[in-house]
Amino acid sequence: MQNPAAEKKCLTCGKTLQGRTDKKFCNDYCRNAYNNSLKSSDSNVVRNINNALIKNRRILQHILGEEEMAKATKEKLSTQGFVFKYGTHTYTNKKGNIYFFCYEYGYLPLESEWFLIVKRKEE
Ligand SMILES: [Zn+2]
Repeated sequence: MQNPAAEKKCLTCGKTLQGRTDKKFCNDYCRNAYNNSLKSSDSNVVRNINNALIKNRRILQHILGEEEMAKATKEKLSTQGFVFKYGTHTYTNKKGNIYFFCYEYGYLPLESEWFLIVKRKEE
């Protein structure tokens, strides 16, 4: 009868592994391929979020222009590709209003899906 532990399969190609039960791959090629795919999916996540943050910043910058403050609707932001779930940090003012920032540009949710857009002053 076969020991179920001997039925382990290679994590990359799915071939049944023989011999040592602590093995996860059938050879170096499969191990390297697996580790490389982990690394690249890792950097994909970072790259996608970074791109979204940079795009968010550019949208806020564009709407604000040279003004100190501007207003925009949620629809306008979304249409331009703004992704609300990504930001770099928040800022709470003395009144307790929470501003959401993408780098130096931020927004404050107002009533009826309007947003106040601001730029953080240099300190
Ligand atoms: Zn393999």
